[in-house]
This record gives sequence, C-alpha cells and structure tokens, in this order.
Amino acid sequence: MDCLFCKIVAGEIPADIVYESETAIGFRDINAQAPTHVLVIPRKHIATINDIGDEDQALVGSLYTAARDIAAAEGIADEGYRTVMNCNESAGQSVFHIHLHVLGGRPMGWPPF
Ligand code: 5GP
Ligand code: ZN
Repeated sequence: MDCLFCKIVAGEIPADIVYESETAIGFRDINAQAPTHVLVIPRKHIATINDIGDEDQALVGSLYTAARDIAAAEGIADEGYRTVMNCNESAGQSVFHIHLHVLGGRPMGWPPF
C-alpha cells in the first residue's frame, strides 16, 4: 500500500517522532501551523473517520490519550490546545491515514475556516 503515514510507522520515511505506544505514534507536522503541531496516528492503516470500525474504538481512544500525554510533555496542557481530525477533501484531509492534529502554543480562533 502506498501510504505516506504507513511508511512513517514502518520507519521507511523519517519523522520527528515525539510519542510512541503500542497502538499509536506522534510526530511533528512538517508544515507546522502552531508552535506545537504534532500528528497522532494509529499504527494500523485507517483511511478516514468513515472507515473506523466498531472494533477500532479503543484504538481511536488511544489517539486521545496520546494527545493528552503529548500536550503535557509540550507544556501546553494547562493553557489549552486543539485537537482536529479532518475527514475527506472538503474538510481539508490531504493524507488518507487518519491523524489527530494536536495544535498549541498560540491562541486558536473559532470557528475554524
Ligand atoms: P490533513 O491536511 O490531511 O488534515 O493533514 C496532513 C498533514 O500532514 C499536514 O498538516 C501536512 O503538513 C502533514 N504532512 C504531509 N506530509 C508530511 C510528511 O512527510 N511528514 C510530516 N511530518 N508531516 C507531513
Ligand atoms: Zn496508512
């Protein structure tokens, strides 16, 4: 399968990995939109939110405990941070292996555009 993020999981493409667990990894976004911008992905390939299976509930939950730990390690847990997962083109998804953006270190506007 020709998936960029599967290649990062496999170590075939380098990434600045800041978090690793049995089910997920976190690495810095190559085009950071905030002082902290980490992508948390499952090791398992899932293309979009629409492809998440009922059996993946714990796996997807582990993306959020990863985000929690990354925010603490980055020192942004108390001030606040945003998690975003885009689904399909209109929402801005460009890599079709689900990823939770963890953004912080600056104020976040709302609503997002
Ligand atoms: P999306 O637009 O799908 O929600 O987010 C994809 C993210 O992946 C973008 O923020 C983009 O900067 C990031 N990205 C794309 N290619 C690479 C890469 O090769 N390495 C890393 N670290 N991030 C990437
Ligand atoms: Zn993949």
